[in-house]
Amino acid sequence: MCEFLKVENYTKGSCIGKGSFGIVYKIADNKTGEILAAKCFMNLAEPDYVNKLDFRREIYLLSQLKHPSVIKYIGYSPTNFEGLNFSVIVTEYLPNGTLKQILEQLHRSNPPEKWSETKTLINIFGVASAMSYLHANNVLHRDLKPENILEDEHYYPKVTDFGLSKIEN
Ligand code: ATP
Ligand code: MG
Repeated sequence: MCEFLKVENYTKGSCIGKGSFGIVYKIADNKTGEILAAKCFMNLAEPDYVNKLDFRREIYLLSQLKHPSVIKYIGYSPTNFEGLNFSVIVTEYLPNGTLKQILEQLHRSNPPEKWSETKTLINIFGVASAMSYLHANNVLHRDLKPENILEDEHYYPKVTDFGLSKIEN
């Protein structure tokens, strides 16, 4: 169904964010040095049916999707960096924060140096195109908001956080 990876092949770096399910860390591939992001869950070893279902749904959806404006899924590990029975999802690392942060900066008339009107249009088109792709594949995101749009090195958007997503039949 989806690719399993060994966390021993990666080195855990700094914490880059916190969500309701756990903590996101920057990690490095020990062989290639490639920087990635690891979403480390904290409560999924609990026999909590709802959380496990949400989690499997997120992994399954991520592993199926391929679009320039949808976050790239790398793999999944059922054990964390401490060897405990807590799941980890690895995705590409997006270095420029969230669209929400950019909107706040624009509101203060202080956007990132590389931001431009063209980037605004690329973000609008990218998110619309990602949603069209998801819908064409019968996926409903159900939590689309600026916090869930991450920005790559060019300030191109990547839709993320499919924890609440649903496949429509
Ligand atoms: P929720 O748990 O409701 O989804 P959330 O979206 O804030 O809340 P996470 O998806 O765990 O939680 O992400 C937390 C933060 O980590 C994000 O806001 C973002 O700043 C950072 N982050 C998450 N994934 C990545 C990534 N692939 N690359 C860079 N930063 C990321
Ligand atoms: Mg999020």
